[in-house]
Amino acid sequence: MQGEIVVQMNNITMEFPGVRALDNVSFETRKGEVHVLLGENGAGKSTLMKILTGVYKQTDGKIFLKGQPYEIKSIKDAEEKGISMIFQELNLVPFLSVAENIFLGREPRIGIQIDWKKVNRDAQTLLDNLGVKINGKTIVKNLTIAQQQMVEISKALSYNPDVIVMDEPTSSLTEREIQELFKTIRDLKNKGVCIVYISHRMEELLEIGDRVTVLRDGQYVGTVNVKETSIDGLIQMMVGRTLNEKFPKECAPVGAKSLEVRNLNQGKRLKNVSFHVNKGEVVGFAGLMGAGRTELMRAIFGADPVDSGEIFVNGEKVTIKSPKDAIKNRIGFLTEDRKHQGLVLKLDVKQNITLSNLEKITKNTAISFSEEKELCDQLVKDLNIKTPALHQKVKFLSGGNQQKVVLAKWIATQSDILIIDEPTRGIDVGAKVEIYKLMNELTKQGATVIMVSSELPEVLGMSDRIYIMHEGKITGELTRQEATQEKVLHFATGGNKK
Ligand code: ADP
Ligand code: MG
Repeated sequence: MQGEIVVQMNNITMEFPGVRALDNVSFETRKGEVHVLLGENGAGKSTLMKILTGVYKQTDGKIFLKGQPYEIKSIKDAEEKGISMIFQELNLVPFLSVAENIFLGREPRIGIQIDWKKVNRDAQTLLDNLGVKINGKTIVKNLTIAQQQMVEISKALSYNPDVIVMDEPTSSLTEREIQELFKTIRDLKNKGVCIVYISHRMEELLEIGDRVTVLRDGQYVGTVNVKETSIDGLIQMMVGRTLNEKFPKECAPVGAKSLEVRNLNQGKRLKNVSFHVNKGEVVGFAGLMGAGRTELMRAIFGADPVDSGEIFVNGEKVTIKSPKDAIKNRIGFLTEDRKHQGLVLKLDVKQNITLSNLEKITKNTAISFSEEKELCDQLVKDLNIKTPALHQKVKFLSGGNQQKVVLAKWIATQSDILIIDEPTRGIDVGAKVEIYKLMNELTKQGATVIMVSSELPEVLGMSDRIYIMHEGKITGELTRQEATQEKVLHFATGGNKK
């Protein structure tokens, strides 16, 4: 990479209360490159770039822009100096138009009047130059996420930037939208703009990146040319060890039936579903999107009513009409949508862990407050939850740590049967392995884990047994030994038992 150095960040340290987010990190970008900033959740990527773009002021370290000392007072100041950031959480004003958003706070004026014609015209030019089909007069809330991103990019381009930082830009885009974004990135690069691309997805960076800088736990690991590296090499840089065991499965002794479902029906969504799970087992549920796996789990957990069917827990017939009934029968449910259903983001770690215990605690029958704190401390330690304190709000934790808090919550309620929907979605490599090890631990203690997963390697890697669903029915069952990708897909697409 031969272009001149645009940004140079030297020995940056950033301390938040209780967390050293960055420890002596250095980073440089060159003209016309896509520089990927790679690292697990919580590695410090966003923080480093938020320092560059004026959101935070570093505790220590120096920054240079094109060789000159660079001091920024605000996001706006950074934009005016040629550095813009497209944030993970997009920052547009939803009820204003696209054009208004692009020129917000710096509208061209005639005298004291805003020159709306020019606002609209200039915005449209920016959008057209970017090659996106968006009308500048559209109200932002009517745009898709991908379109909003394009508006943010147009806004960034209106400052004629040297550097555009994109923070995990593809996390909510479809495959087609991703390809469009990549095309835009390539165009920008050809115009000499430097793109800092934050990601933890390997395939993406191989496709779009020129150089990669890896951060781990707030520290600088190294910078490599994408052409001279491999996925394995990068993973090793990210997690600090080789992942010879991506799926550290340990089979536990299998005990008696813990849960049995007979002939469950729910409208057109679940048709005569019967299955069972045993103590000590991880049972995977595979299937294509919409096969009914989440619906089945919600029904078992009492979150949605069923038309007919029977459920047995430890051999006894039970009635589950609400999640409360399920919890009483020691069934726990980690939803796939942990941000909306599993966690209360504005509450802290302790409150989240004890949430479903609330009844016990308020009645003060089972656990006292000091015991509660002790329990939480123990779980944070056992599950290796990285949080500065029990009173840290969970919204500040990384995805992997949030998932562990949800797990801790269900372990605290002493669930014997844990249903986990997409256990590792949105979680980085290292935290995935930790979640798998927790599953080993739980089954070793005699619990049952029911795992719904769309990641076939995960299903094959971690399940003792696999049920496959298609259009609301169970179409196949495979043991760990029998299961292959082909067989699972055969059942998942509706193939019948041979
Ligand atoms: P990444 O973007 O690589 O996932 P972040 O830069 O968001 O990582 O976070 C790095 C560390 O700093 C994490 O431990 C995170 O919890 C912490 N952190 C980030 N922002 C704040 C903040 N505003 N206050 C306190 N801690 C923070
Ligand atoms: Mg981030």
